[in-house]
Amino acid sequence: MDFGIRGKRAAVAAASAGLGLASAQALAAEGVRVALCGRDSARLDEAVRSITDAGGDAVGIAGDLSTAAGGGRFVADAIDALGGVDILVPNAGGPPAGGFGSIDLELYGPAIEQNLLSTVAMCAAAVPAMREQGWGRVVAITSISVRQPIEGLILSNTARAGTTGFLKTLALEVAGDGVTVNSVQPGSHATDRLRSIHGGDLTEAARQIPTREVGRPEDFGWVVAFLCSDQARFITGAAIPVDGGAHRGLQ
Ligand code: NAD
Repeated sequence: MDFGIRGKRAAVAAASAGLGLASAQALAAEGVRVALCGRDSARLDEAVRSITDAGGDAVGIAGDLSTAAGGGRFVADAIDALGGVDILVPNAGGPPAGGFGSIDLELYGPAIEQNLLSTVAMCAAAVPAMREQGWGRVVAITSISVRQPIEGLILSNTARAGTTGFLKTLALEVAGDGVTVNSVQPGSHATDRLRSIHGGDLTEAARQIPTREVGRPEDFGWVVAFLCSDQARFITGAAIPVDGGAHRGLQ
């Protein structure tokens, strides 16, 4: 299937590795020109090369997405580099692990800044021009924890619920302008983040998933790319789990 987005311009946040990179790779395979953001220039160069070596069009933008200002700056730089942004994939690293008993009050602000306000800032920088041109896609990377909070990840659970409320509200406001806004909720995918949470061994994580395996990053990236497609034009305000059936609820 041709996703109908060849030549579109995408800003993909936190894309030097993991789910952001897999999303950028899937978009690039569909002919989208992608701007990738990451903090480490060497890793970013490697990520860009993984796309250009496969015949894709990619540019790296070094930056830190842990603040609203950093999120806004990345999108402004991506607009400069690509001549505009038609597709935005908000994403950032996950906040520190811990529960109510171990996470101090002061840690909530930075987590909300990184996983909620930077998404708001990225949307503020990208969505007005999408509305003006009558076409745009926002597909944010959140977490399955929005459906079912994950024990020991209280910062992530708290911030991402707020992000999802923001995205749903934005989706309703811009739906009449050809702009769709969705989120994709990863369950467990084999990335550095998941390995660090599980001490490097994903065997137990896989046992808890009905498919009996953790997801590959590309299993996630292709769903993001599909939501950016022309065919997905009637999907907006959705929060879509990609979790191998791990979430047991009906909603
Ligand atoms: P990852 O840590 O493997 O990769 C994240 C990438 O973003 C890395 O390249 C990292 O250098 C970059 N990054 C991190 N913080 C950044 C910052 N402040 N500024 C710029 N770049 C930054 O993570 P991942 O597994 O790809 O996860 C992506 C998001 O999805 C995270 O927020 C994570 O918490 C969430 N998530 C992941 C899973 C999973 O199974 N992998 C599950 C649920 C939620």
